[in-house]
Amino acid sequence: MNYQKIFSNIYSNLKNESDTGQVADYIPELSYVNPNQFGVHLATIDKQGFAFGDAEKRFSIQSIGKVFSFVMAYARVKSDIWKRMDLEPAGTPFNSLVQLEYDQGIPRNPFINAGAIVVCDILISELQSPKEEILSFIHSLSENNDIQYNPQVANSEKQTGFRNYALVNLMKSFGNIKNDIESVMNLYFDICSIEMSCRELSETFLFLANHGVVPHSGERILSPSRTKRTNALMQTCGFYDEAGQFAYKVGLPGKSGVGGGIVAILPERYAIAVWSPRLNRKGNSHKGMLFLEEFTTQTKLSIF
Ligand code: GLU
Repeated sequence: MNYQKIFSNIYSNLKNESDTGQVADYIPELSYVNPNQFGVHLATIDKQGFAFGDAEKRFSIQSIGKVFSFVMAYARVKSDIWKRMDLEPAGTPFNSLVQLEYDQGIPRNPFINAGAIVVCDILISELQSPKEEILSFIHSLSENNDIQYNPQVANSEKQTGFRNYALVNLMKSFGNIKNDIESVMNLYFDICSIEMSCRELSETFLFLANHGVVPHSGERILSPSRTKRTNALMQTCGFYDEAGQFAYKVGLPGKSGVGGGIVAILPERYAIAVWSPRLNRKGNSHKGMLFLEEFTTQTKLSIF
């Protein structure tokens, strides 16, 4: 399939779209990004790559990083992870406190902030040097050793992360955080601050399209069954309280972040990453979502 041609066709229609989205500015460092950038990259499991626009430009992956930390925790503690969090869509914003109080400190799923914070707590208990090991995990998945945390972004979020601190304190009060709050939050903010390009993200997510095995190295990251389950979680919980819309319009499992990135996979075929910093009201990339909707429509490829 000529993905390249499809990309430019879709983009030429999309660029006339009056973009109503807004760049995330509740984390001050994120507000400095040029909002008009747009990139996309598709990597296939048989090692082809198709790029368009700012596909090589690194951006703040934010909540997309929650997939890496979840996979690391899930591969280690296996189904015990479900003693600490649930696996249901939230139906509330990503940083909501209301549901958490109601559910007695058990987050609805690993991809909302509260769930990802518990995942960080688990990784601190399980790993010797979580911050270094998470980065080396990403390095080995991407075969790229210069992917890094951005300390300015992490620090900016730490200064303004009052809701995230409220979430962690609430969970600590229910006994669902075992380690000290500062270490858990430092790790959480570091993971959100990782910077990657669309190409790097799409290549890194390929193992989820390949039954848990990294195509270039043959390394198994997750069992086929846990890969299927991770993909199911991305489909149902990967897009804040817009996961239903994303399934309906795009029809691929994936994860978005408030940096404007979205990664999605088609099992046994490809991983695609798109980046456009302006977000819709639910926190998903406005143009990114429109692009992917048109992409799965034109290619007639989705999981449905
Ligand atoms: N670091 C962001 C936060 O905790 C992540 C939000 C996101 O990308 O969903 O608010």
